[in-house]
Amino acid sequence: MELIDTHCHLTFEPLVGDVAGVIERSRAAGVTRWVTVGTSLEDSRAATNLARQHEGMYATVGIHPHDAKSADAGALEELKRLGRREKVVAVGETGLDFHYNFSKQPDQRRIFVAHLGIARELRLPVIIHSRNAFEETMEILDRDGGGLKGVVFHCFSGSAEEAKRVLERGYYVSFTGVVTFKNAEKTREAARIVPLDRLMVETDCPYMSPEPVRSQKPNEPALMVHTARFLAGLKGMEMEDFARATTQTAATFFNLPHAATV
Ligand SMILES: [Zn+2]
Ligand SMILES: [Zn+2]
Repeated sequence: MELIDTHCHLTFEPLVGDVAGVIERSRAAGVTRWVTVGTSLEDSRAATNLARQHEGMYATVGIHPHDAKSADAGALEELKRLGRREKVVAVGETGLDFHYNFSKQPDQRRIFVAHLGIARELRLPVIIHSRNAFEETMEILDRDGGGLKGVVFHCFSGSAEEAKRVLERGYYVSFTGVVTFKNAEKTREAARIVPLDRLMVETDCPYMSPEPVRSQKPNEPALMVHTARFLAGLKGMEMEDFARATTQTAATFFNLPHAATV
């Protein structure tokens, strides 16, 4: 079995202190490739450096909406430069977070639109972080998201109706361990309607360990098997078949080799 953790933060503490151990446990569990996601200029640089050092690891470059306030024109130029490094497979995470509002909303909008332009220019797909901002995220994508290679809504926790609208535009939907949580029936309803060729699995670690290991901290890629098994059950599928299908989806989206070399 081969799974891909399509959204993790291996540059974050405490994972970054034990990357070799994290990778070893992950491979043993069947999660053999990783997309480590950049959240700031420095973090994107660290993600690309880390990916270079590890087989099966890829990086993305992005400035999280939380950090939008710090992103001036120079930062965006530098982000674009980092996006041309080897093993960079997407732009993001980017989007709108109107739950925390750590950056002012106009800054978040401006930086989100800038990311879409960089992704278009670099011909890379985009990882969207959208929290309490679904309608406006869709508006911006409708207005400024033309010509993108691909779009994924990561850590999706919207309704089935919202998932349907995402799918109608040809976008992808990615689920974290949140889908396993007791109170996440709405997210499960969304997961039920997402076809396997648009569905990806992620940890978003070090956060949000899935059930039944929710109390285990930090979350790490090895634990993604619980989310994958849960989703396979939701789809009434064997784990092997679910893993094969969603790994193919992720490989297509991020333009990775279709079979892992390990
Ligand atoms: Zn996010
Ligand atoms: Zn993330």
